[in-house]
Amino acid sequence: MRAVRMTAPGVLEHTEVPTPEAGPGEVLLRVGAVGACHSDLHILDAPAGVFPIPMTLGHEIAGTVDTVGAGVVGWSPGERAAVYGIIGCGRCRACLRGEENRCRVIPVGGIGLSRDGGLAEYVVVPASRLLPVGDMDLTQAAPLTDAGLTPYHAVELARPRLRPGTTCVVIGIGGLGHMGLQILLATTAVRIVAVDTSTAALDLASRLGAHHVVPAGPDAVEKIRGLVGPPPDGADVVLDFVGAQATLDTARQVVATGGQLLLVGLAGGTLPVRPVADEPPPVPLETGVVVPFWGTSAELHEVIALARDGRLHADVQTFPLAEAPQAYEALRRGDVHGRAVIVP
Ligand SMILES: [Zn+2]
Ligand SMILES: [Zn+2]
Repeated sequence: MRAVRMTAPGVLEHTEVPTPEAGPGEVLLRVGAVGACHSDLHILDAPAGVFPIPMTLGHEIAGTVDTVGAGVVGWSPGERAAVYGIIGCGRCRACLRGEENRCRVIPVGGIGLSRDGGLAEYVVVPASRLLPVGDMDLTQAAPLTDAGLTPYHAVELARPRLRPGTTCVVIGIGGLGHMGLQILLATTAVRIVAVDTSTAALDLASRLGAHHVVPAGPDAVEKIRGLVGPPPDGADVVLDFVGAQATLDTARQVVATGGQLLLVGLAGGTLPVRPVADEPPPVPLETGVVVPFWGTSAELHEVIALARDGRLHADVQTFPLAEAPQAYEALRRGDVHGRAVIVP
């Protein structure tokens, strides 16, 4: 079968490999669609030894069951599914609570992270990782598993503060951000301020229903402050889907005293947190800071329900498998609007 594999640090190749077989408890899935994620760029850029090499990338997968391995119950060939990508140890305190994204044994384990992923014609996954998607378009189903799930989990963590009448600032209206915005609209009654460098992304945010859009840049803080008021007031919640120095600085300067910062994006910025009462403080008093990671399979079930109900729609740009390397280059350049989805 054809597969797109990381064959050396930084090297992504479209190549031919043997079609894998489902072992006990596993399913062979014919891949219908795979989302291209910024995390894949981090995997590619990681030094040798951090991730297995060679490895087929792709952790945002939807497909059709082809064959089932020994002992698999509940799944038959022809059924369509989305893949919950995380594989925790299954035995630690977090996993037992269904929080495999907080596994105390396996730090970042999963399909396309620590074993072959979905950028191929077929992928083998544990049957326990599959969630049914019915007749949903698979290019819509795939992005739900990360671009949908990760913001949903972040919103879940912030939900006690997302009361009617509060304000949430969403920074970065890309693959995750445009889904996060819809999740906020579908599950809360907050006022949403969308921030991005790109006019096209801000137009998308407006079309989706953001109440205010603010171009990122030197005067973004002032503009957002104009909407949320001066300190110690401010945004109740800030979701930063970028995580660059500039966005983290914007986030901490607009959050309210007692607010919450959720740092979802992995762009390498640093948030200064000091227990001081300076004026202005680097992070306001009583403010919570969370670094969310992906989500739980129960949350993915809820994300799929939102999508099947027509309340969550991924804005996708599709690429054939052979052009996956170009899709990642477009992602690196910032030329992808919404989610890049690769169709084998
Ligand atoms: Zn991802
Ligand atoms: Zn565990």
